[in-house]
Amino acid sequence: MKVLVLNSGSSSLKYQVVDMLKEEAIAEGICERIGLEKSQMKYKANGKKEEILHDMPTHKEAIDLVLKTLQGENGVIKSIEEIDAIGHRVVHGGEKFDKSVIVTKEILKEIQNLSSLAPLHNPANALGIEVCMELMPDKKNVAVFDTAFHQTMTREAYMYALPYEDYEDLKVRKYGFHGTSHYFVSQEAAKVLNNPEAKVIVCHLGNGASISAVKAGKCIETSMGLTPLQGLMMGTRCGDIDPAAVLYVMEKRGLTAKEMDTRMNKKSGILGVFGSSSDFRDLSKAIEEGNERAKTAYEMFVHRIKSYIGSYAAALNGVDAICFTAGIGENASKVREDVCKGLTYLGIDFNSEENSTRKDGIQELTKEGSKVKVFKIPTNEELVIAKDTYSLVK
Ligand code: ADP
Repeated sequence: MKVLVLNSGSSSLKYQVVDMLKEEAIAEGICERIGLEKSQMKYKANGKKEEILHDMPTHKEAIDLVLKTLQGENGVIKSIEEIDAIGHRVVHGGEKFDKSVIVTKEILKEIQNLSSLAPLHNPANALGIEVCMELMPDKKNVAVFDTAFHQTMTREAYMYALPYEDYEDLKVRKYGFHGTSHYFVSQEAAKVLNNPEAKVIVCHLGNGASISAVKAGKCIETSMGLTPLQGLMMGTRCGDIDPAAVLYVMEKRGLTAKEMDTRMNKKSGILGVFGSSSDFRDLSKAIEEGNERAKTAYEMFVHRIKSYIGSYAAALNGVDAICFTAGIGENASKVREDVCKGLTYLGIDFNSEENSTRKDGIQELTKEGSKVKVFKIPTNEELVIAKDTYSLVK
């Protein structure tokens, strides 16, 4: 009982083989620079790591190489027959998909049609599915959408106050992303709290960052929007700004829509304010060295998270737990501390000592009796994809 999980990007392909009995990855890796020179694959299994330089002009050669390596010397399967199904991360499911589905030709077409909402992601995701259908015609492919978990948001949360026809004709509204992570972490929190009705705020703080409000397992608000650009300040994305600032900068700098899009998605956020790097570890190092712009970027990052938590506590009419996850959320204890120390009014009795002690797995970061609990919960998006895939095909 093994599921191959694929996350196909425009020039990369991340993969895992998940053993469904143990519910853990037994092999994982990434193909990089697909379609470019010097493409290579990184592979990890059985405690060993490999780096394989291999020509991968398209995703077909990449997936072919993954399958061969999985059956090779340091492989985890003897034949492809051991793979029960393939689970694919698909970024945008629009309003059409509120849960994972087995991919048919019609579904594949719908995923491709949603490309106008996610031009950087959906074409690559669809391509990964197409290649698997071609290389393994007898296997089922399941699409797991980043947006699906957020489809429970109600109108007042997802509508933008633009002319109504922009929603009707163009489907412009808030969708939200990182859904598998918000789902996984909020479920884990509800389990620890032993309360399926729990009100949970999940802060997914990685390179991309988003926050969600979850009540009784259902998402009621999230910070990303039509695209992942809205909401928190991120590694290279600006997050919330006055929409008029976009037009002003374009006009003053003579930028095209595409150039402005790149500016907001790839040159803003921590990178934009700090100026040297989008990586949180570089930012932290620069703060220690007294870099003022790094300090500003850090303070903005924390301030935004805190503001969203306040707003979501209001939307939920109270909160039982606040969870931190992803690269920054799981590792940057100072961010967790700086966010939480300004939230005593919510009823958080933060445990600084526990917070600064690095441990694997779930960690409770509040003192006994704290009205609102704070957790560090490692996310596992691949496991959600594998479980959905397995339960649909079995
Ligand atoms: P994504 O999946 O969106 O690319 P990740 O969840 O891997 O992002 O998070 C990447 C971010 O986490 C980077 O900014 C990185 O600097 C930060 N990060 C990773 N490890 C640490 C650490 N030990 N301390 C602080 N930040 C960390």
